[in-house]
Amino acid sequence: MMTTSAIHPASECHSDDATEQRRLAELSRYSITLDQSDPNLDLITGLTIKTLGADIGGISIVYQSQIWLPSRVGIDARHVPRSGSFCTWVVASARERDFFEVEDATSDPRFNTNPLVTYPPHYRHYAAVPLHGARGYLLGTLWVMGTRSRRLDAEQRLMLTGMSKLVVDTLELRYCNDVTGMSNRAVFLHHLQLGVEQTRQPDVVVGYIDLVGFRQFNDEFGRDKGNQVLRLMGQRIADWAGPDNLVGHLGGDKFVFALFGGHQDHVTLLDRLKAILSLPFTVEHGAPQVLHARIGVEHHHTPYMGSAATLLDAAETAASSISGGFLRTTVKEYGLELLARSHMVYELQGALDGEAQHGALVVHYQPQVNYARGTLIGMEALVRWQHPVRGLVLPDRFIPLAESTDKIYQLDMQVLTQVCRDLRAWIDAGLPVVPVSLNLSRRSLLHPQVLVDMAQVLERYRISGAMVELEVRESQLLETLDLLSSRVAGFRALGVRIAVDDFGTGYSNLDAISSLPFDRLKVDRQFVHGVAGSEKMAGLFHLIQGIADLFKAELLCEGLEREADLDWLSQRGAHCVQGWYFSAARTPDAIIHLLATLRDHDPAAAPLTAPELRALLRA
Ligand code: C2E
Ligand code: MG
Ligand code: MG
Repeated sequence: MMTTSAIHPASECHSDDATEQRRLAELSRYSITLDQSDPNLDLITGLTIKTLGADIGGISIVYQSQIWLPSRVGIDARHVPRSGSFCTWVVASARERDFFEVEDATSDPRFNTNPLVTYPPHYRHYAAVPLHGARGYLLGTLWVMGTRSRRLDAEQRLMLTGMSKLVVDTLELRYCNDVTGMSNRAVFLHHLQLGVEQTRQPDVVVGYIDLVGFRQFNDEFGRDKGNQVLRLMGQRIADWAGPDNLVGHLGGDKFVFALFGGHQDHVTLLDRLKAILSLPFTVEHGAPQVLHARIGVEHHHTPYMGSAATLLDAAETAASSISGGFLRTTVKEYGLELLARSHMVYELQGALDGEAQHGALVVHYQPQVNYARGTLIGMEALVRWQHPVRGLVLPDRFIPLAESTDKIYQLDMQVLTQVCRDLRAWIDAGLPVVPVSLNLSRRSLLHPQVLVDMAQVLERYRISGAMVELEVRESQLLETLDLLSSRVAGFRALGVRIAVDDFGTGYSNLDAISSLPFDRLKVDRQFVHGVAGSEKMAGLFHLIQGIADLFKAELLCEGLEREADLDWLSQRGAHCVQGWYFSAARTPDAIIHLLATLRDHDPAAAPLTAPELRALLRA
């Protein structure tokens, strides 16, 4: 018995009564998972509690043997037993009822083991609505509780249902793939982590599926048909995996799965997967089409206490090492990839140590602008590996490798040095320099030497701390908040600014964020790209803008590509952006040219308009 994806068709949740009874019995053995609350969801939960006059509330995501509470307000408990939980009953009746209420739980035998009911303050009233996704999937529940026995009136029920729609929108945007409704990467990894730690099965196989030729199919038949095919493939994969395993959709043509069982079962199952993926399908009465896949798998004994992301990385590495794949679906185990990976690690170390045959790490800079003022306000330093054979390798290919092999500190310090050297040369050349943001991985931020080393590099190149900003990814903030807080104070003592990077993608809660001083909040691309055309995204963007206001931090929108989004942001007063619309990352030479042009701009002339600024940056 194991976990399945958070998202599965409602019909899978409720078969016949006997199965349901077995399922409920099974469910009660496991515990509810409480980890970091999601600030956006907490805002909605808080509002729901207030409007309904309740005392506590939450959002529970239900998946097979687990309940996960990405939002809860008013509950301190870290661990809640699963048995006697209200959620189980809401889910069990979700098909027939869209509202579930218990007026007085203290006199209801179904809940006489529930600690919220049996321990003070003895919550009595419970009301909840099941959350159904846009494609009919059952996601979980939105619930409130109070110590007073009562019954909600029609208006209050309506309010709860209305709030549930907002929750569904938020959940789908943050936790589901928008094309298939399947779990996205964050949710898949979350469940996988719990799965590998808690399973009673001896083995896990984590798989990464890359559909071959999907892009061509999309180009030929158009996006709508492409999306239909992705839904079909997603459905095939979910049906194949069944309720005891996990599936997810990372986006585009990339799917993932985790199988729990014994090695023999896996072999048979993978053979079946190969067959079903390559089954023909038709598009609007046309000729049958076939897509094949590259499937990378990583096999591990359980329980496994390492990081689930490492298992998935290994499966991805195995999949990306399959060349061709247009003729048939191919499965490759990671074991064979170890060699290639260790070779890459060896080469990366060579490049870090300055051995020219392994290429060199170079820094490119992406401009950050305030387009309302027509000014350049900063630049983000982004590392690349200029490799003699592979060409310009982007950081996503080697940063994870550097992070998992203890090379990241050396890399981050090289980038800092390179940035300070460039800044010094630009200052000496009389160019109007702007502050540069650096990405420091968690290990680097927590490295015992980092403050001393950073101070030394700044001093060596005579760069003021105010010229440097450190970007800390939101997801890294909370993992090590206590350690990080004192470190951040040290950076600020050097005059260095702190930015929270990729904001909106982590599970941060406002309490935690407020304990860490920061100057800038970088809204992740996923809340910027397409915001003009999506009410859901717009709603979330407003929440994030509110958070930046609350902490008096500058809001900088990442990943701006389209004019429509720029217009939308402009109307909301979000004027600081970084994105390809204005400029991609540029080489140091291109930056010198850019700074020189800005220097020569007549100060008496009117400030640059957004189109003028764009033309100048892209020249
Ligand atoms: P990040 O810090 O979120 O950096 C922004 C990424 O978004 C960059 O990708 C940038 O090229 C890309 N980007 C910028 N504008 C747009 C846009 O309009 N559309 C789209 N689709 N993408 C845009 P890049 O350079 O591949 O860097 C990826 C990640 O690698 C960075 O994400 C950062 O987390 C990490 N990274 C980069 N340099 C370093 C470094 O020196 N040290 C460490 N530890 N990590 C680094
Ligand atoms: Mg960054
Ligand atoms: Mg970012």
